Amino acid sequence: MAMESKYIWMDGKLVEYEKATVHFMTPALHYGMGVFEGIRCYSTPKGSGVFRLREHLERLIDSIQIFGVREFPYTVDQLRAAVHETIKANGLKECYIRPLIYMANGPLGLNLDASKPSVGIAVWEWGAYLNAGEEGGIKVMISSFTRHHPNVTMTKAKVTGNYPNSVMAKTLALRAGFDEAIMLDPTGLVAECTGENLFVVRGGKLYTTLRANILEGITRDSIITMAGDMGYQVIEEPISRDQLYIADEVFLCGTAAECVAVREIDFRTIGSGKMGPITAAIQKAFFDTVRGNGKRSTEWLDYP
Ligand code: PMP
Repeated sequence: MAMESKYIWMDGKLVEYEKATVHFMTPALHYGMGVFEGIRCYSTPKGSGVFRLREHLERLIDSIQIFGVREFPYTVDQLRAAVHETIKANGLKECYIRPLIYMANGPLGLNLDASKPSVGIAVWEWGAYLNAGEEGGIKVMISSFTRHHPNVTMTKAKVTGNYPNSVMAKTLALRAGFDEAIMLDPTGLVAECTGENLFVVRGGKLYTTLRANILEGITRDSIITMAGDMGYQVIEEPISRDQLYIADEVFLCGTAAECVAVREIDFRTIGSGKMGPITAAIQKAFFDTVRGNGKRSTEWLDYP
């Protein structure tokens, strides 16, 4: 996976890729004191378009607020301009965009107020994250690692220090021969995957979990809206593990994963064992939209 590019934007300047380094004593590196976003830019008939850039940057600022950083020197508009500048400087038509705000410039320690936030923005070409292969769906397991209790690390914030939970679940799933892990919350109900939210299709209706114990995915929100546009009923309610096993269809969604069907969970075939018709329709609407040919494309694409 080549993540190289020409430049990384660091605190207001475009820095050559090899020179975009941080010091060993940076507090963020030791204590997970950072917040980040994952965003995608797609090639469209009107040029490169960033999908829901403003919403992603607003969530970045929300992550800062939840984490408790009190002074942050950039507005959403300034960050948006910086993302545009980074994409243009790297000359990429389609890319993944990674803004990271990390606590630097201060002594090593646990006090957020003792260090100052730095900002970096990287972009690179990145294809499909979860490969559905010929079967058109992936195999997943329910992880033995529980998703965070919302009062341990905050699930609404993309704080770097939250992600070892996902790293352990993802690594275990891959080592066990699965493509992804579904994580349950501390009460045993379905929460989300390591980097995706989840939808269930049953009896022609779509179900997705409540927002309280998950990261409020922007892809999830987009799919709820598009499914509504297409006339599907979408119900947000608690989902149990056995409801997954008896679903007609299950699919995952996220910026990196986009929209991908699940064909097997814990060695149980889901529905027909292939991508189901409603997942296929939602996936098509998603790709039409991000590539500039959907009903919501004008509203959701931001052209650098
Ligand atoms: N849950 C988690 C834990 C994630 O890291 C992500 C990826 N940001 C998602 C869900 C999906 O969110 P989005 O659709 O905004 O990328």
